[in-house]
Amino acid sequence: MLTERCGKLMDALRGSGVDGAIITSGTNIRYFSNFTSDEAVLIVTDARRVLLTDFRYTIQAKEQCGSEIEIRETSRAIAADEIAAVLTEIGVKRCAFEDGYLTVRAFNSYKELPVELVPMTPEIDRCRLVKNEYEIECMAKAQSIADEAFAELLTVIREGMTEKEVANELDHLLRRHGADEISFDTIIGSGPNGALCHALPGPRKLAKGDLVVIDFGAKYRGYCSDMTRTVAIGEPSDELKKIYSIVRRAQQAALDALRPNMSARELDAIARDVITAEGYGPCFGHSLGHGFGLDIHEAPYASTRSEDVLVPGCTITVEPGIYVEGLGGVRIEDDCVLTEDGYLDLAHTAKDLIIL
Ligand code: ZN
Ligand code: ZN
Repeated sequence: MLTERCGKLMDALRGSGVDGAIITSGTNIRYFSNFTSDEAVLIVTDARRVLLTDFRYTIQAKEQCGSEIEIRETSRAIAADEIAAVLTEIGVKRCAFEDGYLTVRAFNSYKELPVELVPMTPEIDRCRLVKNEYEIECMAKAQSIADEAFAELLTVIREGMTEKEVANELDHLLRRHGADEISFDTIIGSGPNGALCHALPGPRKLAKGDLVVIDFGAKYRGYCSDMTRTVAIGEPSDELKKIYSIVRRAQQAALDALRPNMSARELDAIARDVITAEGYGPCFGHSLGHGFGLDIHEAPYASTRSEDVLVPGCTITVEPGIYVEGLGGVRIEDDCVLTEDGYLDLAHTAKDLIIL
C-alpha cells in the first residue's frame, strides 16, 4: 500500500520534472509511510522510500512502516547534512518539498542541500484528496463514535452547567466510546457566545432559552470526524427558532443538491442563497464546508471562491450557520463522503431542533 501511495506521489509530481520529494509534515509523513510522529523526514523517489528519524523512534518506525520503507537513524535534529547524504546516495537532483509547512529556519538549512528544491505543497497534499475504502471506514467509525457520545451527552447536559463542563463531559464521552483522541478542541457556544463561530468553552452557565452550538469530532486510527448540532435549553425565542429553521433548510438544500463532480462553489451558493433570501446573508460569514481526513481541514473547500470539484472519494462537510452578535448562533454540520453515484452522510444524529 505504501509503495503504491508513494508511486502516486511521484506520478503527481512528475509533470514538474522532479525526481524526488522531501516530506516533512506530520500528516503527509503518516499518509505516505504510516509513521505517526512528525519527528522525521521522508524522502521518496520512484525506486526508494527512506524515513529519517532519531534513536527515540527507530523501533516504532520499523513496526509502523514495515518492509516498504527504509529507516535511517539520524541525530535528533535531522540535520541538513544527514538529509543531503541520503539525497546524494539515492541520486535525487530536483526535489519537491512542502513549502507550506516548513519553518524559515529549516528552509534556510535546506538551501545547503545538493538538489534543486521545488515548492509543491498543493500537489503533495492533493494525493490525499480521494479516500479509499479503509479510510472511509475509519471516518465512518469516528463519526459513529461522535453520534454515540452526543446521544449520551444529551442525557447529561442541563441548565446551570458551564460551557467548560459540557466540553469536558463530551470529550470524555468521545474517548469512552472509542475515540483515540478528539479531532480538534471542542467548540461550545451558549447563548450570545454562539455568535462566535469558534467559541472557546468558558465559565458561562447554560440558561433557559439559550441555543448552544456544539461542534466536535472524534479521531479513529488518525482519521477525523466533524459534526455540529445546536440544541436549545428550554424554549428559545421566536427569532432563534426562525434562525434555526433557516439554517436547517439551508443545510438540507445543499445536501439535496450534493452530487459527485459538482463544483464546490456551487454547493456553497445553494446553502448561501437560502440564508441570503431570508435577509441573514451577512450573518453567514464563513464558507459552507471543507474536506476532512487525517487533518480536520483539508481539500476540497466549499466557499464562494473555491475552484474545487467534488470528485468521488473526496470528503466535504456541509455546515451553514447564522451568527447574530449579542443574540446567539446556529450551525448544523454533517460530514459527507462523495461516492460514484451520490454521497454518504456519515452523521446519523437527528437535526430537528432538540429542546432540552
Ligand atoms: Zn465542525
Ligand atoms: Zn467543520
